[in-house]
Amino acid sequence: MTSTMPHRPVTAPAIPDTMRALRKMSAAPGFTLERIPVPSIGPSDVLIRVKTVGLCGTDQHIYGWDHWAQRRVKPPLTIGHEFMGYVAAVGSAVKAVQVGDRVSAEGHIACGVCALCRTGQAHICEHVEIIGVDTNGAFADYIRMPESNVWKLDPSIPDSWAAVFDPLGNAVHTVMAADVSVKSVVITGVGSIGLMAIPVARAAGAAKVFAIDVNPQKLELAKRVGADATFSALQPDLVDEIITRTGGDGADVLLEMSGSGQAINNGLAMVRNGGVAALLGIPSDEVEINLAERIIFKGLTVLGINGRKMFETWYQTQALVTSGRVDLTPIITHEMRFEDFEAAFALMKSGEAAKIVLHVDE
Ligand SMILES: [Zn+2]
Ligand SMILES: [Zn+2]
Repeated sequence: MTSTMPHRPVTAPAIPDTMRALRKMSAAPGFTLERIPVPSIGPSDVLIRVKTVGLCGTDQHIYGWDHWAQRRVKPPLTIGHEFMGYVAAVGSAVKAVQVGDRVSAEGHIACGVCALCRTGQAHICEHVEIIGVDTNGAFADYIRMPESNVWKLDPSIPDSWAAVFDPLGNAVHTVMAADVSVKSVVITGVGSIGLMAIPVARAAGAAKVFAIDVNPQKLELAKRVGADATFSALQPDLVDEIITRTGGDGADVLLEMSGSGQAINNGLAMVRNGGVAALLGIPSDEVEINLAERIIFKGLTVLGINGRKMFETWYQTQALVTSGRVDLTPIITHEMRFEDFEAAFALMKSGEAAKIVLHVDE
């Protein structure tokens, strides 16, 4: 009986021929809910029935069809990269994953054979394909992933938390790269990843965490999740204030999460000589920086942060959550139904939400 369906074990629940998928159908703003074939899988692939997904700024860029999206995305494409679900089928060569496993997955599909991939740096593979950006994504009933990208979830992790391991992993990678132990940390931009970075930095032993944003609601949340002090980015003497609060030297570490040119410049000015700046936020345009004043004379170490280390960051992320050191409850501000995606994107645009998750399978 398996001869007609070589990669679908007989114990798997029936897999339909078609599925719902949230797609970018043309080079214009918006998404549409389409019905398309369920992806077929190769020998090393896993088919995952998606249960819960997270909405990301990246999805919003693609929804709005900004310059970045116009350059990068080729419609038609199923969007979404933050998700969790259950394994529905496995290819004949798959070893570590079984039908029924509860999983998330690394959304950056690295080539696996380039020099970077072979030296433990797959997160910066030049041939990377990102699900929901370069290849069909997770805002659908099913997604195909290579076995090597699949992450088995600890059963204690709630669905909504598991769905956002991707951005939580960005926060973990940034904090761990900067080495915040017993140091003063400034976080510029407390959107969902900036907020996640607060308990992660606390867990990693940060002595002080200061959060800066333009949005008062986000600053309120930042306090709730463990920031020692929060500041409006619009406060005119903010650089002096942070320098005063760090004994006149400046902060040891900057975690830049906003991508705003002004925040980057102010953030670098707040860091002490010899400090570290880890940059995760992506500016939409080129940013002018006085390199001599802000970086060279200060002897700063500047780190570019991309994705999550495969899979060191995933082990760290899961350990931070299962040990109770990171609580995402205050950060996941909205849980909605998949069908209500228009309302969810409008809510995200309003700035009132931190993290929104959608339940695909109810
Ligand atoms: Zn994301
Ligand atoms: Zn590679």
